[in-house]
Amino acid sequence: MELHQLTIHELHALLVKREVTSREVTEALYRRIREVEEKIGAYLMLTEEKAFEQAGQVDRKIARGERIGDLAGVPLGIKDILCTKGIRTTCGSRILENYVPFYDGTVVRRLRQEDAVMLGKLNMDEFAMGSSTENSGFQITRNPWDLSRIPGGSSGGSAAAVAADECIAALGTDTGGSIRQPAACCGVVGMKPTYGRVSRYGLVAFASSLDQIGPITKDVEDCAILMNAISGYDPYDSTSVNMDVPNYKESLINDVKGIRIGIPDEYFIEGMDADVERAVKEAIGLFERWGAKIKRISLPHTPYAVATYYIICTAEASSNLARYDGVKYGLRSKGFRDLMEMYTQTREKGFGKEVKRRIILGTYVLSAGYYEAYYRKASQVRTLMRSDFEEAFGQVDVILVPTAPTPAFRIGEKVEDPLQMYLSDIHTIPVNLTGIPAISIPCGFSRENLPIGLQIMGRHFDEGMLLRVAYTFEQNTDFHLKKPPIA
Ligand code: GLN
Repeated sequence: MELHQLTIHELHALLVKREVTSREVTEALYRRIREVEEKIGAYLMLTEEKAFEQAGQVDRKIARGERIGDLAGVPLGIKDILCTKGIRTTCGSRILENYVPFYDGTVVRRLRQEDAVMLGKLNMDEFAMGSSTENSGFQITRNPWDLSRIPGGSSGGSAAAVAADECIAALGTDTGGSIRQPAACCGVVGMKPTYGRVSRYGLVAFASSLDQIGPITKDVEDCAILMNAISGYDPYDSTSVNMDVPNYKESLINDVKGIRIGIPDEYFIEGMDADVERAVKEAIGLFERWGAKIKRISLPHTPYAVATYYIICTAEASSNLARYDGVKYGLRSKGFRDLMEMYTQTREKGFGKEVKRRIILGTYVLSAGYYEAYYRKASQVRTLMRSDFEEAFGQVDVILVPTAPTPAFRIGEKVEDPLQMYLSDIHTIPVNLTGIPAISIPCGFSRENLPIGLQIMGRHFDEGMLLRVAYTFEQNTDFHLKKPPIA
């Protein structure tokens, strides 16, 4: 194995034993990036100078015999939606093309405190709106398993970079599936934590009641390590929950005996992709063989999830994106005659098509006379979906479903058909609407050798159970060890 192919925990062991230096590892990663990045297009920016500074600091600590944490000296990639002090943060949008935050988001600050090395900022759909990373204002990102396909989205840069070994692990964000769906498309692990588990301070807001930050990693152990680093209360985010964070590494238990697993009828519908259905059903069979109790359950409001999501997320987005008016941040269009023209021209030039579509939809569902019919109704359905899950989690410990209805689709296939694009998140959206945590892990391959993701959902703040179930699957299968042909 080469250095860039290793996991966080493997690298940590080598660093502690002084078999490699963080500098050597960082060099190996940039070498890898130079080798494959032209084909993949995962990064919007590389921060080489700062990375080597950080690596040097860690190497000096190790040389002095200081104890180092799990992430020290480990090169990571960061989705470009997270504010990085003094480093451009574009959110995939032309309107923020030259925006340089004067502060670090809380998760970024925590990674720095842990001495992680940041390699650069990763591509994404503009303002995290999309499922394919084709909505980036700058470039497309290609799936390392098949360069003619999308890596998923909106954290497509993060998932592709991890899969192509262009970083050891990455952070993404998930509002309706944007960590889990790209993780599934690229054959890596991705977790959306419980709403409130991870601070959103310094995360550029899309839909504030749904957004969460989470890890995208090569295996489940790395997911636990990153969760340890980023979880916990933050006075700067009033929705972060003041509750103890367990040591997630203690949840890495290879045993599911007696664990009750729910299989919801509504997620296994007619017309679903045959390869996805086969892989997920085989996974369920394996859990049964390992002693878990499989139980059919029902989540009856599932069919309304996509409609509900697209009312709530557009409503929140239209409000959150009102701040990009040319006054405080990023782009200001030139040649305007008055203030109104400055606003309209800036927004006209700075936002892409999908973002404009969402602002228009969101403004509409919030407007007088329509609010009750759309936004209020959607909020009520959201409550019903929460009770669906509460009822289900009275009978089972976790719920297993596919992460996405199909493996990665082709670049260009859905750009002209937003509704088809929206349907790619049909299995991930309910998790955000109800605030529960979920993880996607690799569970098989399609006939075209594309990765397939298994999604495990759990109770609020029960990430530990998800890690345990995921870890058991991983320890007894080898899907996560397969590398894309680009390697
Ligand atoms: N694909 C969904 C959307 O376009 C989810 C995006 C996300 O989770 N950020 O809104």
